[in-house]
Amino acid sequence: MAEQPFLNTYGRLPIVFEHGRGPWLYDVDGNRYFDTFSGIAVCGLGHAHPAVAEAISEQAGRLVHCSNLFHATQQQKLAHRLCGVSGMDGVFFANSGSEANEAAIKLARLYGHQRGVHSPSILVMDRSFHGRTLATLTATGNRRVQAGFEPLVSGFVRAPFNDLDAISAIARSNHSIVAVMLEPVQGEGGVNIADPAWLQGIREICDHHGWLMMLDEVQTGNGRTGAYFAYQSYGVLPDVVTTAKGLGNGVPIGACLARGVAAQTFQPGHHGSTFGGGALACAAANAVIETIRDEDLAERARQLGERIRDRLQRIFQGVDYIREIRGMGLMIGIELSAPCAELVPLAKTQGLLLNVVAERVIRLLPPLTLSDEEADLLVDQLTRVIKLYAADDRQTPRP
Ligand SMILES: *Cc1c(COP(=O)(O)O)cnc(C)c1O
Repeated sequence: MAEQPFLNTYGRLPIVFEHGRGPWLYDVDGNRYFDTFSGIAVCGLGHAHPAVAEAISEQAGRLVHCSNLFHATQQQKLAHRLCGVSGMDGVFFANSGSEANEAAIKLARLYGHQRGVHSPSILVMDRSFHGRTLATLTATGNRRVQAGFEPLVSGFVRAPFNDLDAISAIARSNHSIVAVMLEPVQGEGGVNIADPAWLQGIREICDHHGWLMMLDEVQTGNGRTGAYFAYQSYGVLPDVVTTAKGLGNGVPIGACLARGVAAQTFQPGHHGSTFGGGALACAAANAVIETIRDEDLAERARQLGERIRDRLQRIFQGVDYIREIRGMGLMIGIELSAPCAELVPLAKTQGLLLNVVAERVIRLLPPLTLSDEEADLLVDQLTRVIKLYAADDRQTPRP
């Protein structure tokens, strides 16, 4: 493929896609590929979902944007729906996950100042991912995301994931902390799942110290893990929750939701976004939420996730190069015993689009709308690719 005029931020596979349907993507030569990660957890309803396409085209002929200096019906509708489904009291609309998290970070700092903490800090986790803006890349627990962009933003303190003692110790010694921000299931970090006792313990620590519990559900939200938001499976209610990826099924939209005192923090002038909550994006998101509700897709994600994990576990039981198969709903990680980035181009030759994170974890994020047959096909094709990869001597991962 000829050189393309892009700034060099992505290593891309040489495929040019032209259209999609459900879990399938079709390239310009008419080849069909199974997309096992839904455009990175974005197209949770699958590509070109008819209800979303209809909502977008209808709205495009009606109203696309009127600014946040006024109300708009689609935005009001979405705000009510999101608060209803999350248990939060209010929402700020942004255009991406990073921006939703920026809103949460600003909210936490303002909350701290309002409580007389002059230099508030936010507790974040190892191996986390919160985005690529300066504040969110600072919050991210991955040096590769940060390196070269110093000076980083001050006001973040880091703790290991799933370690309550570490957080208790920090709470005793550091009185500048006003909030904790974390992903209930770390996506980019390798599909690392929060222990229920850890999340519940964090809720208690937050209550005790007056910290805001802020959950980054940019990736885990919108039905993916088996509930609308992952925290609903843990029996905890955060003070702030952010979401984005699956919310618009591909139309850019992010949301920062808050309840109680956190929802009272921002006043006019504190934060804003020109495009945030535009009528077109809200129309798409309304169609997504309605479809998830009407088709019970969160529960469907839970069942499909179990089906896929059970089959993979049976197939790879006792196989030495597979270290662990884990997941929550349709967020599934297959951890190999060695780095496996070379799986991606190999899978492509077999018509399978794969995503590898944290060097050795195959991350599956298929659409919530998969049929049982498609879920089985995914497992069959993936199994074939992994076995092909392992059979190649040069590539066999060695523990
Ligand atoms: C993708 C992601 C983000 C960043 O979202 P963008 O839309 O790329 O800015 C933040 N947090 C988590 C957990 C994510 O998975």
